[in-house]
Amino acid sequence: MSVQVAAPAVELKELGGPRDKGAAAPSRPAEPGPLPPPGLGVAGAPCPLPAPAGEREAAAAPGAGCGAERPPVSGCPGLPAAGLPPGAAKVPQASAMKRSDPHHPQHRHRDGGDGGAGREAMVSPDGTVTEAPRTVKKIQFADQKQEFNKRPTKIGRRSLSRSISQSSTDSYSSAASYTDSSDDETSPRDKQQKNSKGSSDFCVKNIKQAEFGRREIEIAEQEMPALMALRKRAQGEKPLAGAKIVGCTHITAQTAVLMETLGALGAQCRWAACNIYSTLNEVAAALAESGFPVFAWKGESEDDFWWCIDRCVNVEGWQPNMILDDGGDLTHWIYKKYPNMFKKIKGIVEESVTGVHRLYQLSKAGKLCVPAMNVNDSVTKQKFDNLYCCRESILDGLKRTTDMMFGGKQVVVCGYGEVGKGCCAALKAMGSIVYVTEIDPICALQACMDGFRLVKLNEVIRQVDIVITCTGNKNVVTREHLDRMKNSCIVCNMGHSNTEIDVASLRTPELTWERVRSQVDHVIWPDGKRIVLLAEGRLLNLSCSTVPTFVLSITATTQALALIELYNAPEGRYKQDVYLLPKKMDEYVASLHLPTFDAHLTELTDEQAKYLGLNKNGPFKPNYYRY
Ligand code: NAD
Repeated sequence: MSVQVAAPAVELKELGGPRDKGAAAPSRPAEPGPLPPPGLGVAGAPCPLPAPAGEREAAAAPGAGCGAERPPVSGCPGLPAAGLPPGAAKVPQASAMKRSDPHHPQHRHRDGGDGGAGREAMVSPDGTVTEAPRTVKKIQFADQKQEFNKRPTKIGRRSLSRSISQSSTDSYSSAASYTDSSDDETSPRDKQQKNSKGSSDFCVKNIKQAEFGRREIEIAEQEMPALMALRKRAQGEKPLAGAKIVGCTHITAQTAVLMETLGALGAQCRWAACNIYSTLNEVAAALAESGFPVFAWKGESEDDFWWCIDRCVNVEGWQPNMILDDGGDLTHWIYKKYPNMFKKIKGIVEESVTGVHRLYQLSKAGKLCVPAMNVNDSVTKQKFDNLYCCRESILDGLKRTTDMMFGGKQVVVCGYGEVGKGCCAALKAMGSIVYVTEIDPICALQACMDGFRLVKLNEVIRQVDIVITCTGNKNVVTREHLDRMKNSCIVCNMGHSNTEIDVASLRTPELTWERVRSQVDHVIWPDGKRIVLLAEGRLLNLSCSTVPTFVLSITATTQALALIELYNAPEGRYKQDVYLLPKKMDEYVASLHLPTFDAHLTELTDEQAKYLGLNKNGPFKPNYYRY
């Protein structure tokens, strides 16, 4: 199976990265030449299309680079008559899947948790990654036992309050609300609310919280420099003019910055929450106040959840032409209830593991009727979500739940992948003594080289103060391990969902559970020994801490660019299939964040570019490169 990224199709002419002298960057020394924006070339400017496979080598020859020699895309040499870039001529059939890293555990989950066992990935000289065929599983959508129009009673609604789909555990977002409005028992669906302009096209907990939410959004804006740059620089251009985006994501201050950016780029948006708990009510209110039809509140019932989604799409005189989804529930709803809408929909951008998995399944089954962008597997998202986000949030999660001091504490971290590396680095920096367990000799060797003791969990389980799982696997910490832990040992999970610690094995009559704080349980053995279980084995940082806005900025920028790309792509460029964002756009997302650090990127000389066989303007790495 071919793993390919999409060739970029769009360009925000005025946009530029840190090399762009006109960028909204802090004042700093002039930098070398402009960074080409993603996608199509501007007339007369270098064509920034990535050299198609086979052209990389040719680019090494004098004058053969894509750079100055390649005209704008409309006349790019090698473009098929249909307007497809050379790379796009190799668009795989609907059954093909394009993935950045077939061995990533998130992919394993998609495949039913088989660990990817037995599948081989081969990299051919042109960078194409070929994967052995995988088993197709039946599409499983979120359970919808209840129709939204059969409204339950208030009590019924509350009892239904649970997560709808796994999407809530796929994407990482601050779920903390700073204004507690839970005392207001009236369902937002039963309230008549209007914003100050007289519009009632929204449903939020309390529109009066808008001012407070606006302040939250303003704080988030400070850490989302790329979106702010997109807004500023695309003002005249409006690359999303005419776009009608229906979104279903966590509704937080960071999402609000994304939505307002999409609005500034010309889009009309209607939005629902992808998670029944994660909506920040005051932020939803601020969005509604500024005219965004938002249908979401914290603590929705399952019925409310689908009702909100329906209110976004089932509206007189308005039909979406783009979908931004986190978890696939919105996409599923449209498929199920309004399949005809897909005639007008130009594309789907999906953020979560689960949603992407569903899209690949639809694609395999030949049922995907529009192009889709898999944002989840973008390099920048993966790297920042997994390594840097966890490096920052592990300490926050542990501190908020236990008030513990880290210095001198013995910690064992299970798994030394991206998440494990982040956790280990943070704890080591705080003076903890860190042990690592691994199954993969390469990651194990990395742990050793980074100065960590590689052990088996059994060897240290009696002595450690904290156990952290980061493997993407199941039953890494078993009941036997839990039995042998010392008194007051803290147990938590930073990896996959709630499978890594065998929490179910602790729900037996001889053990007593004591809730000591929100998300903190003491599990007490008959002899008085107790362990401290955090978030009942679910993701610690998602449940108990905030996630750095800067990390979410990367994801949100990637989403915005994916929407722009799909919306502007010429007819036929993207088939009814799932695509990764072009690497060049990943690089562009990163470059938009560099000015925050006053970072000065080195530019390749012509000679160096020829020597490496690269376009001076990127992409700088082959698709299989692991950063
Ligand atoms: P990864 O594949 O880079 O790392 C996982 C590591 O665990 C691998 O090196 C693997 O060899 C090792 N491993 C597997 N089974 C093991 C076992 N039984 N004992 C010891 N080591 C074992 O993956 P990653 O990017 O580090 O992500 C890990 C998990 O964290 C995934 O499930 C991912 O979805 C999740 N994740 C969490 C967050 C968060 O914010 N908490 C963010 C991103 C990803």
